[in-house]
Amino acid sequence: MPSDAFVIVMAALLGAMVGSFLNVCIVRLPRDESILYPPSHCPACGAGIAWYDNVPVLAWLLLRGRCRHCRAGISIQYPLVEAATAVVWAASAWRYGLSLEGLTAAVFGSLLLGIAVTDARTYLIPDEYTWGGLVVGLALSWRGGLDGFLVALIGAATGFVLLYAVAWGGEKAFGKEAMGGGDIKMMTMVGAFVGWQGVLLTIFGGALLGTVVFVPLSMKHKRLVPFGVFLAAAAAVTFVYGDAILKWYKDFVLGV
Ligand SMILES: [Zn+2]
Repeated sequence: MPSDAFVIVMAALLGAMVGSFLNVCIVRLPRDESILYPPSHCPACGAGIAWYDNVPVLAWLLLRGRCRHCRAGISIQYPLVEAATAVVWAASAWRYGLSLEGLTAAVFGSLLLGIAVTDARTYLIPDEYTWGGLVVGLALSWRGGLDGFLVALIGAATGFVLLYAVAWGGEKAFGKEAMGGGDIKMMTMVGAFVGWQGVLLTIFGGALLGTVVFVPLSMKHKRLVPFGVFLAAAAAVTFVYGDAILKWYKDFVLGV
């Protein structure tokens, strides 16, 4: 059911507010700080941020990316995350309508965005996104009744077991940690949203993206691989197009 313009605009506004909260999570969760207290403040001068200076995207533009009090620069990451989350929510409403499926898509997209930005910044994937997201994913899977819940449960188990095996095998083969625990927990959460076949597709897509995009870069800069970024992109594609990709694979590649 396609949504009308009103629903899409409301979803975008709600998404921008979720993005504002996501910014707080991105900055504070890796430092183990509370996401509720203290309220938003300028990291440079400590001044509290009034509600009108905290309006997603617009406030940053009106203040030209500077603190109202001390004029210190405010990272462009804030409006970008807010705008991206707004797009995720609007696209979810556009594709899935005002439905539990639409809400699931928007929540999953927001979790993946939070994971990707946090992993890229800090090489950490905090438990709030993964274990917290797993609980939310399992709860939302009840939209499909008991069957939906079982699909989510099997998906989560698949994600955990597969990534655990890869991490264990990598450690045996290379003698050092090849994959962080955050990636294992992340794919457990992803499995609850995309099912076991979706887990396979996500790992395949993430590895492919990581190889094509990151290996050439990391050769040059000798940096760690924030694998969660690529898994997040692959998981988003899988959620939307997974069924179509799997159908294509079965029809044309396997010929069944
Ligand atoms: Zn300031």
